[in-house]
Amino acid sequence: MKILVVNCGSSSLKYQVLDMTDESLICKGLVERIGIEGSILTHSKIGADKFVLEVPMKDHKDAISHVIEAIQDKEHGVITDMSEIGAVGHRVAHGGEKFAESVLITDEVLAAIEDCVELAPLHNPANILGIKACMDLMPGTPEVAAFDTAFHQSMPAESYIYSIPYKYYEQYGLRRYGFHGTSHKYVAEVAADMLDKSIEDLKIITCHLGNGASIAAVKGGRSIDTSMGFTPLAGLAMGTRSGDIDPAIISYICKKEGITVDEMNSVLNKESGVYGMSGISSDMRDIKSAAAEGNERAQLTLDVYAHKIKAFIGAYIAEMNGVDAIVFTAGIGENDPLTRANVCRDMDALGIILDPEKNETREQSVISADDSKVKVLLIPTNEELMIARDTLAIASK
Ligand code: AMP
Repeated sequence: MKILVVNCGSSSLKYQVLDMTDESLICKGLVERIGIEGSILTHSKIGADKFVLEVPMKDHKDAISHVIEAIQDKEHGVITDMSEIGAVGHRVAHGGEKFAESVLITDEVLAAIEDCVELAPLHNPANILGIKACMDLMPGTPEVAAFDTAFHQSMPAESYIYSIPYKYYEQYGLRRYGFHGTSHKYVAEVAADMLDKSIEDLKIITCHLGNGASIAAVKGGRSIDTSMGFTPLAGLAMGTRSGDIDPAIISYICKKEGITVDEMNSVLNKESGVYGMSGISSDMRDIKSAAAEGNERAQLTLDVYAHKIKAFIGAYIAEMNGVDAIVFTAGIGENDPLTRANVCRDMDALGIILDPEKNETREQSVISADDSKVKVLLIPTNEELMIARDTLAIASK
């Protein structure tokens, strides 16, 4: 079966088609500036040149209709008829407490995803537009929703309840949800395969370090804690997001700077993290270059970044009473040996020893030393494949 995977943003849309007979990616693409002047679709058939289409696309339905044309295009397409697409998998940002796994989209499911808009006002509305567009344009094709939050629904209450008045949880659903769930689940499963062990018998810490970053403690294949919270602002320092800070800082800065809470929220989301600390860039590559040239704030940024990851790893080892493997994934986790080395430095007391030579790789591999009790693994994430696997399983039922 061939599966179309769709990931909608407010003005953009990413897609992939996978052939699930061998799980191979056969084409992928990106539509940008949906509903804005200058809409553009970039389509790549694997092994062929890119195909670019610049036509006005007033909404997500317009965009999806051009995607459908592109994947059937005589020259650049990968199918001859849409009936070859057995199902569509949609990435959905927030499933609240309603969804602990991927589901077939029905009218009731769509209504439940709409109920979660309050929890993810920037993301769920775009996901819903994509789902509705596919339902209109591909009637009869099963549609599946895969939620960023679902994998973390297995967390026990002690991990997700905040120490604030309980009524806020009851009234507003204020709790830790966690995100990047599809990625944490995917790399944890690959880690178990690499170690040739059943995931039920493993304690794994998965570090998804991209522009957004989060860590999860995965015990017996289930997420038992994660660093992102009610929103993706919590936890680690990220490209432009602060991660955890003393909550009293918010009112302090609002008063000192005379800014509103919304403005402060924007500071924490868009002007903080690696960008805010360094004053240079949100991109780790720029920070590394600056630090190598002797820029002290860039070095401090690298130190703070690794320190926070280390602190979570320590906490999760305590929560799980040990760890078998630590996984690094996403843009920084996959491509930056320095961050991996900074995080794993001086952790031999916990049985974590990195092999400096093996750590230079960008390929999926074991990067810990042979005598390291805890295996350290580099595993490129593949959220689309995970969504396609879930979609295939649900559509085949
Ligand atoms: P992602 O959100 O997973 O696409 O990750 C994007 C981030 O990965 C970028 O903002 C960079 O900070 C980081 N990145 C990509 N390549 C490298 C590299 N070679 N070294 C350090 N960081 C990198």
